[in-house]
Amino acid sequence: MPSTIIIGAGMAGLTAAHELIKNNHEVTVLDKGRGVGGRLATRRLGDGRADHGAQFFSARTPDFQAHVQQLMEAGVVNEWNLQEAEIVDTTFRHPRYIGAEGMNAIAKYMAKSVPVQTGERAVRINPIAGGCQVVTESGHTYEAAQLLITIPVPQAEALLKDSGLEPGSLEIRAFSNISYQPCIAVMAVLNGTATIPTPGILRFDENADHGVAWVADNRQKGISPNQTTITVHATHAFSQLHLEDDLNAVGKKLLDQLTEWIPACSVASYQVHRWRYSLANQRHDEAFVVGKAPFMLLFGGDGFGMGNVEGAFQSGLQMARFLLGTGRA
Ligand SMILES: Cc1cc2nc3c(=O)[nH]c(=O)nc-3n(C[C@H](O)[C@H](O)[C@H](O)COP(=O)(O)OP(=O)(O)OC[C@H]3O[C@@H](n4cnc5c(N)ncnc54)[C@H](O)[C@@H]3O)c2cc1C
Repeated sequence: MPSTIIIGAGMAGLTAAHELIKNNHEVTVLDKGRGVGGRLATRRLGDGRADHGAQFFSARTPDFQAHVQQLMEAGVVNEWNLQEAEIVDTTFRHPRYIGAEGMNAIAKYMAKSVPVQTGERAVRINPIAGGCQVVTESGHTYEAAQLLITIPVPQAEALLKDSGLEPGSLEIRAFSNISYQPCIAVMAVLNGTATIPTPGILRFDENADHGVAWVADNRQKGISPNQTTITVHATHAFSQLHLEDDLNAVGKKLLDQLTEWIPACSVASYQVHRWRYSLANQRHDEAFVVGKAPFMLLFGGDGFGMGNVEGAFQSGLQMARFLLGTGRA
């Protein structure tokens, strides 16, 4: 039975794992996080929840539409009705989907049938006879014939370097095409309700001086029925400028810009998360790249192809199909 290690249990890694397992491959997924999902991230805040990574996603490709349909039938995904936002923002004129209990629940559902080792940060890759060995920070080793790396590209490059593996010309070209924007995310618990207009979002110009790009009311969104929580995303410029600052102070600065909708007295508590890699704003045009190594090595994730949640899904699917011999040569 062909064996594969997948580094990264985000949408790309979990999708590849599913497809390979479906086709009788032996798969082990490693993730450094305490749980699965990566940027499909939801935090529990008291009685509430807040999505602090991806906020919603679209489904434009038939494979992903079919996957989303299955997730909807399982009650894991809902459509987020943004019709009222469409009046002012034409980019919402096609369906947007969310995790019914937060975006992370989608990854948890997908991981049910996948053997994932969490808390396992890959720190070294060693070529061995017949494949590769992955060493994790905890000292465990995993061996397989094939390796898929689905972590953000700067982290993948560091992993290769630490492993003494020279990237080939294909990887170097692909990696040089890819970059990610940082994003500072604030999650606030409110005492009462907020006055964010229906359907619960505020979207500002990316160049806005106040530094706020996006606000979502997670109660109106439907993922936090017992507690009003708010997610704020800073603009990329603001995030870049304040990435290394004291996060508590940065969170307050952002919330202070929103007192028209969220009075300071209604904020019971807040937490701040720093995403060094949020959206892949520049991507390699193929869904994955084949690495130069004495074993089968593929790199994918949202830096490859379409980007976003759907692009990560497509990247994972295309990598699996390539290994199964049903994708591109
Ligand atoms: C703030 C923010 C807002 C966003 N908004 C949207 C949106 O509205 N719509 C949309 O479609 N997309 C959005 N995105 C992007 C979307 O979340 C990503 O494109 C997608 O989730 C990426 O999936 P992935 O599997 O490629 O990577 P990831 O989700 O990053 O998964 C990679 C995994 O690898 C793990 N990992 C990293 N290094 C190692 C290591 N050395 N060893 C083991 N594991 C490791 C990580 O823990 C992680 O779980 C947003 C992202 C952020 C952060």
